[in-house]
Amino acid sequence: MLDVSGLDMPPRFEFWSKLFDKHGFVKRELVRHEHHKGSGCWGWELNQGMLVYVDVVWVDPPYRRQGVGSLMLRRLLESKHIEPFDFLVACETPTQDPHSHDHSSEIRRRHMGFLHRNHFRRLGRTPFLLCSAISNHPSRKRLVLNEPLSNLEYEDKSDPVDPLELLFPGMRDPDAVSRNAAKYPIHEAIGRILDRDVVYTPLGEEISISTFIQQQFVRDPSSLHVRNRKGYTPLHAAAAHKNLTAVQALLQPQYKCQADLSRRDNVEGATPLEILMLVLQKEREVTESSGKSWWGYPERPLKVAWTLKRADGLDIGTLSQFVVKSRWGCTCGHCTSGWFSPLMRRSMACFASSLSSKMQASKSTMRGHVAQVDLVGLKYLPLRIRNATTLAGYEGFLAVVRGVEAVCRTADQIPTPLVVLQASAGLGDISEYVDLGGRAEYALDIVLHAAQSLSPLGDGTFGEGTFEDVTEDLEDVLCLPPCENDLEFVLVRRHLRLCDIAGPHHEHGM
Ligand SMILES: [Zn+2]
Repeated sequence: MLDVSGLDMPPRFEFWSKLFDKHGFVKRELVRHEHHKGSGCWGWELNQGMLVYVDVVWVDPPYRRQGVGSLMLRRLLESKHIEPFDFLVACETPTQDPHSHDHSSEIRRRHMGFLHRNHFRRLGRTPFLLCSAISNHPSRKRLVLNEPLSNLEYEDKSDPVDPLELLFPGMRDPDAVSRNAAKYPIHEAIGRILDRDVVYTPLGEEISISTFIQQQFVRDPSSLHVRNRKGYTPLHAAAAHKNLTAVQALLQPQYKCQADLSRRDNVEGATPLEILMLVLQKEREVTESSGKSWWGYPERPLKVAWTLKRADGLDIGTLSQFVVKSRWGCTCGHCTSGWFSPLMRRSMACFASSLSSKMQASKSTMRGHVAQVDLVGLKYLPLRIRNATTLAGYEGFLAVVRGVEAVCRTADQIPTPLVVLQASAGLGDISEYVDLGGRAEYALDIVLHAAQSLSPLGDGTFGEGTFEDVTEDLEDVLCLPPCENDLEFVLVRRHLRLCDIAGPHHEHGM
């Protein structure tokens, strides 16, 4: 029996969130990051094909060890359901054999042997292994011996998770709590910190977390470095809980926690700073997926990030500079105001430039005084303006599109409607356009619409010509520093206050 499933199955959610960003693209660090990419045999091709999750490969006991499982996988790869750019995915943790109570390392070893024999190789250091349908894919040349360990190897399985906690997060077996408090006193204390950064001692005494850490240090200095079952040191735990006071306390030189700043021997395979960012990203995803607006990372956790980076010897400027740079999720360090990325700037400038040439050409076809509906860009003007647009009005609109380009080509400038309007005034007569009710927002809307439609997020259906000339112009984007904000069209629209403006505007009922 071969059981494969789509990725929308609820149990596969972990798979999805570990491997892909919110746009559905493979996470950058799994391809690029020196450590997180693991053997590095997987690349951006993962964004092209379909992923087929191999849930179960089941062979009845009498027929085992005869190559039946491998044959089934081979048949699947050769079947009409799998295209050359598709991938099979499997998890390294074997699905439990209902006929056996033995889930020892032997079963796991056999399971991994089976996956490796069938050309499955690990993606980064995640628990997931992929198999490419292409026989000369780099993963096929990768020796099993060179496979990195999965981060899950760092989980301390001798210390099982509290089953109550697993079933009902937040509800914990009191015995397990006190056992953990004895083994990992600082982790436990950080986990139950109240407002004002205080914890209660077993005697009910209220003390600050920094005093608690100091007491633990006096009692047993090694308690400041002990790793819990997930492999977290107290510094990792403090970062995961976004607790500034605990992070600052632990980083005092006498506690010698600096070495923990670079440790990745935990289930996330992450440093304290990386764990903090994972937590913040997850919170952001929850907000965004519930349809709410995300208003940037709060200042206090960013102060934790700043403290961790500084302690690691990175030159990151003052706290307020760092907050401005990081608040909107910039990962390149070059986004203007922390959200307008170099690639976003470049593509808006290119699309505005291409659009204005098309508008210029379109204008010459205009007959009479009133603009025809089929003029390039016109359907991004609300009906009342569009129906009244004269040649002079259309020329004004064109000048505003050029204004968008001019502002985007000026380093450090943000194309806010006001700035765009000011720039446009020097590029043509915009008075009639403005008198008709025309706004800079309409030009920004059409440029962003084109950029998004023709970006990896878009459907390529932007209906204003093919923009082949733009693709050529965009070739040098490879030199721009990549940033998580490169595809944040929603964020850009919000900052430019375009949320209630979304063309094209059609006739009622069309
Ligand atoms: Zn950036």
